[in-house]
Amino acid sequence: MGALSLCLGAQAALAQTFPIKDKPVTIVVPFTAGGPTDRLARDMAEALRKPLGVNSIVVENVLGAGGAIATQKVARAAPDGHTVLIHHIGMATMPALNRNPGFQVDTDFTFLGMIHEVPMTIVARPTLEANDYKQLSAWIGKNKDRVNLGNAGVGSASHLCGLLWQAAMKTELSTIPYKGVSMAIADLMGGQIDLLCDQTSNTMAYIESRKVKAYAVTSAKRLSQPALSTLPTMQELGVKGFQISIWHGAYGPKGMSDITQMKWNNAG
Ligand code: ASP
Repeated sequence: MGALSLCLGAQAALAQTFPIKDKPVTIVVPFTAGGPTDRLARDMAEALRKPLGVNSIVVENVLGAGGAIATQKVARAAPDGHTVLIHHIGMATMPALNRNPGFQVDTDFTFLGMIHEVPMTIVARPTLEANDYKQLSAWIGKNKDRVNLGNAGVGSASHLCGLLWQAAMKTELSTIPYKGVSMAIADLMGGQIDLLCDQTSNTMAYIESRKVKAYAVTSAKRLSQPALSTLPTMQELGVKGFQISIWHGAYGPKGMSDITQMKWNNAG
């Protein structure tokens, strides 16, 4: 009897191995739909469904607190491989910016891997009169009391880029926090805000279609994409040390089994 129940227990455990039949996978995104983190997650959902062997992958946008609410949700989820967070550099800056985000970045997660790294671009509303970075700096200097710089909340990539930029310019601008850069860029195109520093994966299409004006990239070297190749780097412009690229990674809750981690890694 004891042996039988042990055997049944082992079978039940095997049956629970990822993926659990008919249980969807949820990719949690800490920012609004349509932004770079969200688009990356949706591309992954599309690409990973078959290799993971699941019927559906749902992308859930859990907004607020610069990503802390989404991150906390994943920290508290079952570590069965069915709930995964896609987050970026904000995961690393969180402990410095938020004393009590409701989780421990270094101990509450299973790190599944790095996904990609993208530099950022300094962009402005299409009606802003400055045509190059020098003119932009002069314009900011003249108007600094009324210049608005958007971001995706405390600790977001756009927030960090904005902080570095303001420090480099030795200027403080008013910042407008959104719950994701898809909202910020919509307001930038509409002229409700003046400036944004955001990932090229988000800005490139808007730069190409001239819906926003672009002034500089934060990479070490110029970028090769036609829409971006004419943009100077911040280093070239003499803004020393201003070099940022933003990574995205995938995280499960702590305690994901080795086999579940391996399945995610092999699928990606
Ligand atoms: N990646 C953006 C940021 O951190 C947020 C987003 O994906 O909407 O600024």
